[in-house]
Amino acid sequence: MQSYDVVIIGAGAAGLMCAASAAARGRRVALLDHANKVGKKILMSGGGRCNFTNYYIEPANYLSANSHFCKSALARFNQWDFIALVEKYQLAYHEKTLGQLFCDNKAKDILNILLAECEQYGVDIVTQCDIEAVEKIAANEYRYQIESSLGSWRCQSLVIATGGLSIPTMGATGLGYDIAKQFGLSIKPREAALVPFTFKGELLTLAQALAGVALPVSIECRQQRFAEALLFTHKGISGPAVLQISNYWYPGDELIIDLLPSQSLSDLLRQWRDNGEKSGLTKLLGQYLPKRFIQAWFEFQQLSILLEANVAQLSNADIERISNCLHAWRCTPAGTEGYRTAEVTRGGVSTDEVSSKTFEAKKAPGLYFIGEVLDVTGWLGGFNFQWAWASGYCAAQEV
Ligand SMILES: Cc1cc2nc3c(=O)[nH]c(=O)nc-3n(C[C@H](O)[C@H](O)[C@H](O)COP(=O)(O)OP(=O)(O)OC[C@H]3O[C@@H](n4cnc5c(N)ncnc54)[C@H](O)[C@@H]3O)c2cc1C
Repeated sequence: MQSYDVVIIGAGAAGLMCAASAAARGRRVALLDHANKVGKKILMSGGGRCNFTNYYIEPANYLSANSHFCKSALARFNQWDFIALVEKYQLAYHEKTLGQLFCDNKAKDILNILLAECEQYGVDIVTQCDIEAVEKIAANEYRYQIESSLGSWRCQSLVIATGGLSIPTMGATGLGYDIAKQFGLSIKPREAALVPFTFKGELLTLAQALAGVALPVSIECRQQRFAEALLFTHKGISGPAVLQISNYWYPGDELIIDLLPSQSLSDLLRQWRDNGEKSGLTKLLGQYLPKRFIQAWFEFQQLSILLEANVAQLSNADIERISNCLHAWRCTPAGTEGYRTAEVTRGGVSTDEVSSKTFEAKKAPGLYFIGEVLDVTGWLGGFNFQWAWASGYCAAQEV
């Protein structure tokens, strides 16, 4: 039996941050993970460069049944605090777009910072440790006991940082939710989020014909709108705009997509017509949209005949039809690609069950939940890591 002040299950972003911060306060910390390596999602994040935070973090960038829950932690450990840590290690980084901060070099640099902090303060990191049971105990100051393939641990504070369900091949499991249920905590329904959509039938045929084509679009669902790139894939649609809106999408919801948000197509078409443009539509639209897209799109919309027409011949009704189908394409995805490719899990341990200041479970003193296992889901762009850092740091001040 090993005894610690704090045992943390899950050595991902939140667990590592919490371990280093609690150990810096002088707590004896053990960090347990069943995987053979720690921080695997950090390593694969941001295309290998880790989008570790964002200049413009706001509570509005997070989804949760309780939209106020994330406010306190995000204010107490903000993006500037994490940037200060990155700068302490003289790590080179850059803003890619929309405030998103990436390492210049490799995601491993971020993991190395967290490991260096853990080492400096003496965190004991244990990998390939299969958790078999967690029990409440009352033995002097110890409140929880953990049984594992590598023996037993007991601790005053037990922190659950097992993340979400996405990418099971990277070590994701539902252990955190099972522990929450064991202690009577409720769980909000979970779905894959920040995830590509899949299509069926004619939409799928269209997507397959356009696979590889990317367009800047504006995409809308449930009153939420994002203006970023969309990518057609062999299964449906992906790209940043699509991943963002997937956070807000529920099965059966329709998406409204503006495929040419930078222009008013009806104005353009009227202008071309009124100026007596001689060229066909394919050539004129080709200034704004990929040729491959134009052909497939007009075919899909059964408007191919207009492509060959001289612009001078377009009626007002033709102009409206073309404009509507490109500016307000309504499509209903068949589903998402699921946890296999999702970046995050929407839903999780209910925020009603946990203090937003300490992250301690209200029904189970000494038991803490941090990071993605909670019902807090960030937008694409460094928001999910910032949540992991912030919740990990704040819990560490209490454990
Ligand atoms: C491909 C991809 C790219 C991403 N890119 C970004 C990005 O650039 N920016 C961003 O902000 N977010 C990104 N994310 C999201 C981000 O990685 C997560 O939101 C974040 O890692 C959550 O941190 P966490 O510590 O809660 O969980 P995780 O980092 O997932 O860590 C959970 C840990 O718990 C361990 N664990 C799970 N089950 C058990 C068990 N039964 N026993 C013991 N240990 C267990 C796991 O092995 C893992 O080490 C990306 C996600 C993916 C999948």
